[in-house]
Amino acid sequence: MGHGRRHAKGTGPSGLTQKSKAPTKPDTQLITGGRSKTVTGPVVNPPVWRASTHLYENVAHLEASKNMPADAREFFYGRRGGPTQWALADALTEMEPGAAGTMLYPSGVAAISCALLAVLKPGDVLLMTDSAYDPSRSFAEGFLKRFGIETRYFDPMAGGEISAYFCYRTKAILLESPGSLTFEIQDIPAICAAAQAKGICTLLDNTWATPYFFTAIEKGVDISILAATKYIVGHSDVMAGTVTANKKYWNKVAQTARAMGQVLSPDDAYLAARGLRTMAVRLRQHEASAMKIAHWLNGRDEVIKVLHPAFPDCLGHAHWRRDFTGSSGLFSFVLNGSKAKAAALIDALQLFGIGYSWGGFESLALPVHPEKFRSAKPWTGGDALIRLQIGLEDCADLIADLENGFAAAKDIA
Ligand SMILES: *Cc1c(COP(=O)(O)O)cnc(C)c1O
Repeated sequence: MGHGRRHAKGTGPSGLTQKSKAPTKPDTQLITGGRSKTVTGPVVNPPVWRASTHLYENVAHLEASKNMPADAREFFYGRRGGPTQWALADALTEMEPGAAGTMLYPSGVAAISCALLAVLKPGDVLLMTDSAYDPSRSFAEGFLKRFGIETRYFDPMAGGEISAYFCYRTKAILLESPGSLTFEIQDIPAICAAAQAKGICTLLDNTWATPYFFTAIEKGVDISILAATKYIVGHSDVMAGTVTANKKYWNKVAQTARAMGQVLSPDDAYLAARGLRTMAVRLRQHEASAMKIAHWLNGRDEVIKVLHPAFPDCLGHAHWRRDFTGSSGLFSFVLNGSKAKAAALIDALQLFGIGYSWGGFESLALPVHPEKFRSAKPWTGGDALIRLQIGLEDCADLIADLENGFAAAKDIA
């Protein structure tokens, strides 16, 4: 058989990679996930299995392959992925109790847009948290609107009262917790319970926490989305997105991704899977350093407020304590002053780069403007909001860098 599941001699059912799995904890799952189902030989890492074309043995074999389920782990044609992509997808599915499968995309935005297209049709209403990532909003306002899908925004703190926003046309809710830029933690279980009672699909952008800190499907979410570009990849060198769905929505998600021709290259899938193996240790270091720096910032006179889910005064902090097992390396703080003051501080930083994205090993600082992306719940928290991604550098060096930034900005109002 000309497919990718051949075992090297001496492995197979009795080989290490074929051992049946004992239930394991998240740290172990990150190491072993996706390994047993897509055996490509007696190796720890699935090789980069590059292929567009499957060569069939004869016409009968070709015809038989057409009856194979689209998500069978048998190589059919490159657009349906191969062993390298399956290993990554399976590892992510295994991280989410209650999940039926995971599709891969060439970016986080591709994952979000395809997931929404999987569950919406003309005439439907999408409810979106007012704290959503700005390209999610743009996709709704531009693309979805053009196809007759209306988007309405709601207060991220709505909780179970989300049902006040429902109408007979409401078909999906896009959640993001914590919210981009402003870090409100939503009451995901309450929102999902209200939605489920009305047959409304819930989708969550879970990029900040990843399933390592927040198991979305288990908490009631139907479709969990990651910009894998961030913590999964972890090294600022690959763009990737993932959508993990429960049983109810898995077929819709998978069929839509296939119809749209979504595929992640095997090289990028390999790098993402390699990133996943070290994600637990990276996340714990991001968490510890971010907490230290957030506390240091909180003690500065120039800082009005730190927006970090683990801080008691963060909106929705009680939900974070109840539902999450940790916090990652991204948070914001409000500087007492103007946008010019924030720019001067950021410009003076040497270790923090100025750039989009986050989740890599390097620290980044970005001036952010949530007031531009709000409608249901205007942002009134201050003009000079700075978002920090805390990388894996020594914390003392990062604090010294910030200290220089504050000094450089001190004479600016
Ligand atoms: C970066 C990001 C995305 C988009 O991911 P890309 O891979 O950059 O397309 C989606 N959601 C959130 C919260 C993000 O930070």
